[in-house]
Amino acid sequence: MILNRMSLLALALIMAPVLVLAADPLLVFVSVVPQQTFVERIGGDRVRVRAMVKPGESPHTFEPTPHQVAELAKADLYVRIGESFEAGWLERMRAANPTMRILDSRDGIALLSEVGDHEHEHDANGHDHAEGHTESDSGSVDEDEEAMDTHLWTSPPLVKQMGAGIRDTLTELEPESSALFAANYAQFAADLDALDAEIRARLARAKADRFMVFHPAWGYFAATYGLTQIPIESEGKEPGARALVGLIDQARREGVHAVFVQPQMSPRAAEQVARAIDGRVEVIDPLAADYFDNMRRVAGLIADAPDQ
Ligand code: ZN
Repeated sequence: MILNRMSLLALALIMAPVLVLAADPLLVFVSVVPQQTFVERIGGDRVRVRAMVKPGESPHTFEPTPHQVAELAKADLYVRIGESFEAGWLERMRAANPTMRILDSRDGIALLSEVGDHEHEHDANGHDHAEGHTESDSGSVDEDEEAMDTHLWTSPPLVKQMGAGIRDTLTELEPESSALFAANYAQFAADLDALDAEIRARLARAKADRFMVFHPAWGYFAATYGLTQIPIESEGKEPGARALVGLIDQARREGVHAVFVQPQMSPRAAEQVARAIDGRVEVIDPLAADYFDNMRRVAGLIADAPDQ
């Protein structure tokens, strides 16, 4: 009896550290909220995920707080997406946590230029200015990187690709959960395929082949579904008077009846265009946490935009 209790105690002592380890999920940091949704879908209860950019903030003007950088000291993984603050703060993130794994979700993805088909303008210093990025004075930001469209997640097939990278990296960090990550990813990928098919069907029934947005966050969505995004914002700024007149003419020619804005940006120019064409301003959020419902809604609104 005593022997049994002692061996149970010994067993408990041996098992305790293992149990504690297994109970502690991986701490994962991401840049924007949709990435949090993706990592949570794949990691399940084996991850705790924190997004650097909180709802309502613009990722393009965001700077991490010292508190956030300090928190990174505990992180197992950072998943990059290409926001400008990442490059500027990477050294500090590394210093805070040299062993933190960094996954770059842009790997293997053909990036689009921020300004799409439009002429690429340079300032006197030869710098590209895109989307209100401010170059961090903490370090040099790669020019090409900065000029690229960072909104990769607006394309469900790209999310599927990014998800495979997340699955593989989580598996490397916690091999004992590989079956869980594989199963979660399979379901996530199937849901993305279904979403993709649904969006294609929705757009096929519509006349939409172009849509007008204030902030050009939907370039990958447009490229995936054969649409053209017409941005009002140019190089991160509201258009001047002459550009605005040109946009209003274009909106009339293209039969645009809706101008899309997002909650993080104040869209005076969008309202001006909408008023001039007797159209409406419609809010679509590229940063929403409920990825699937949000993408369905966006596809529906874009499909309806030219007709109503
Ligand atoms: Zn954006």
